[in-house]
Amino acid sequence: MGKLYVVPTPIGNLRDITLRALEVLKEVEYIACEDTRRVKILLNHYDIRNKKLISYYEPREEKQIPRIISVLREKDVALVSDAGTPGISDPGFRLVRTCIREGIEVEVLPGPSAVITALVGSGLPTDRFVFAGFPPKKGKRGFFEELLSCESATFVIYESPKRLVKTLQLIGEVFGDVWVCVARELTKIHEEYIRGDLSEVIEELEKRKNIKGEVVVLFREKKFYTAY
Ligand code: SAM
Repeated sequence: MGKLYVVPTPIGNLRDITLRALEVLKEVEYIACEDTRRVKILLNHYDIRNKKLISYYEPREEKQIPRIISVLREKDVALVSDAGTPGISDPGFRLVRTCIREGIEVEVLPGPSAVITALVGSGLPTDRFVFAGFPPKKGKRGFFEELLSCESATFVIYESPKRLVKTLQLIGEVFGDVWVCVARELTKIHEEYIRGDLSEVIEELEKRKNIKGEVVVLFREKKFYTAY
């Protein structure tokens, strides 16, 4: 019986990979991944060759699981996503759940994830946080209204830069007075944190012609944290 290794990969800077992650990727014969081209860039960078790649991507996760499980009955498999930690707004959880149900050992390596990097760099309290992934394109107001019940937490969401300003405006409508941090292009050349009052952050973003790259949005109601 093999083991499933869940292997986080860099969220930008290719050097953000652990020694253990590299060891596992070198040792396994099979790697389950979202986009085979993306994983090949990483593998080539570390001179890791001759791996058998199995596709595992949304929304076809359920269909791909039996093939991975049949490999796992005999050999180890490493699961990676395009960037960061598999299972965090990326495929992973269904495969992990199936392995647990089937009695296949799962070993998760700690490593990069945009949510934790952004949270720590935001300057917002880290005592309690709620990570809610990507808000849906439709029904966004309801998505935020549901979060209202989780009092006194720092909220963390992933969002497309195209929808960023509108989403921030909606956060203002639902939550009122909030402190905000937009963490952009983490670990990359243009990394930046835009922090402040909601209106200040929106004003700063509106000055820009377009907002590029990847962003994490964090916010906390001021009534739960005044000294920012
Ligand atoms: N599994 C990944 C993780 O552990 O963070 C997340 C994958 S999700 C499909 C991609 C989203 O994560 C992006 O749209 C963005 O919101 C966030 N993200 C990933 N890398 C980032 C980076 N370098 N800087 C800012 N946000 C990032």
